[in-house]
Amino acid sequence: MASDLVIVYHRQPYEEVEENGKIVFKENKSPNGIVPTLKGFFGRVDKGAWVAWKFAEDAANPDFERVIEIEDSYGKYSVTRLPLTPDQVSSFYHITSKEAFWPILHSFKERYNYDPVDWPTFREVNWAFAEAAAAEAAPGAVVWVHDYNLWLVPGYLRKLRPDVRISFFHHTPFPSADMFNVLPWRREIVDSLLACDVVGFHIPRYAVNFVHVAQSLLEVGPVTRKDVNPDFVWEGTALSDRRVPEAVMYQGRSIRISSSPVGIDWDFIQARATDKETRENAAAIRQELGDDCKLILSVGRTDYTKGGVQQLESFERLLQSRPDLHGKVRLMHVSVGANRSMTAYEEIQGEIEQVAGRINGSFGSFEWQPVALISTAVPFKDLVAYYQVADVCWITPLADGMNLVCKEYAAARTDGDGVLVLSEFAGAAVELSSAVITNPFSHRSMDTAIEQALAMPEQERRQRMKMLRETVERYGIKAWAEDQMSYFLDEDGDARLPKAS
Ligand code: UDP
Repeated sequence: MASDLVIVYHRQPYEEVEENGKIVFKENKSPNGIVPTLKGFFGRVDKGAWVAWKFAEDAANPDFERVIEIEDSYGKYSVTRLPLTPDQVSSFYHITSKEAFWPILHSFKERYNYDPVDWPTFREVNWAFAEAAAAEAAPGAVVWVHDYNLWLVPGYLRKLRPDVRISFFHHTPFPSADMFNVLPWRREIVDSLLACDVVGFHIPRYAVNFVHVAQSLLEVGPVTRKDVNPDFVWEGTALSDRRVPEAVMYQGRSIRISSSPVGIDWDFIQARATDKETRENAAAIRQELGDDCKLILSVGRTDYTKGGVQQLESFERLLQSRPDLHGKVRLMHVSVGANRSMTAYEEIQGEIEQVAGRINGSFGSFEWQPVALISTAVPFKDLVAYYQVADVCWITPLADGMNLVCKEYAAARTDGDGVLVLSEFAGAAVELSSAVITNPFSHRSMDTAIEQALAMPEQERRQRMKMLRETVERYGIKAWAEDQMSYFLDEDGDARLPKAS
């Protein structure tokens, strides 16, 4: 049976584990994140499908199960697993996506690496995704494609299946034309994206940038614009905009442009934050820390975009200039390494370890280690307990499409206390103007922000946290998903996806 909704996302929507010599498919351990939300849509259609990839040493092996049927708490859906060889994955994902696209998307021109890119392999893999989606889609189905490593899928899919409705969401920033146009494949990429019915971004700035890029490269027709939702207009902050494109004409078709921030699952985090185990964990962490020691928490992936080194250097300056804080503050710096050996990430990891070691060596004692550097992932349920104890959550990426950690922190603060220090270059800063906003490219801004956070009186902390929590709840993951799907509901009368009751 063909599917009314096909989700194309490089990750599989479950965990595949071996139990007693048999392969079983389990729901993801933590129902946090985007995958459960996407699967939630399968409950609304007669039939849903997911397209992802899976390692295969030999793609022609007849034992490779390409399409499997899953039945879990989200309903029944099929999953097509494209068999990709380790060489294909390395080329399409680790090289083209991570070494060429990723630095450009985050505006790190100097880290862009063109030489190892094998463009025919990138095309081939994207073509395979498009073919698989075309094979699954019912007439007029909605195909929802995710993220930049599948940039060419919409163009191929439109050729294969002119009838389907295609939506594409970017989970990263989208840079300015000066930056994006460094990519030699720019016209091909943008031409593919303009084959969509809807192209989605987290915030208005990325949508503005995309339309400008499209206008710079192709004969794009009139652009309609609207005022930005006043909740996302904040004068003077780096990523805020007042007007945003809502549609562009290209080759006689109107392409809708959406900007809608991905949020967190509010109810899920409330439940976690209030359960007994979390409360006990939080109490134990607080006791270990001592009543007169403040905890600063920083959580992110080890990536040059996350600004880990710059943050640690700011902490070092804080301890240099404020001896009164020695023994009174600790930084828990969680920087989780990606599971691959790429020089760029190894370098950053080395630098982080070096600065953290230097800080502990210069200022620490047997009783007090100023930095706890954690390089392996903290399970989400434990993270919630740390969020609850942390006096300050310090999130200072140099560039970040959205950033969910800062939203999780606010959601976890059911006690209404705690201070969020947030980089103005995280997409989330556009919504979270009641955080202490900082510029990670400025020492002075970084240093004053952390001092302000540590000294903030309780009343101000609570006022700010109240506003943060209201925004994070209002623009949660459900609001994002509804907004994305609203483009395919009702309006044209033949919508296949019913509205949530
Ligand atoms: N995370 C986690 N344990 C860790 C570090 C991170 O569970 O040790 C989770 C975190 O809770 C968040 C996600 O990983 O949900 C990171 O998302 P974010 O948008 O902040 O950053 P990204 O890695 O997507 O750039």
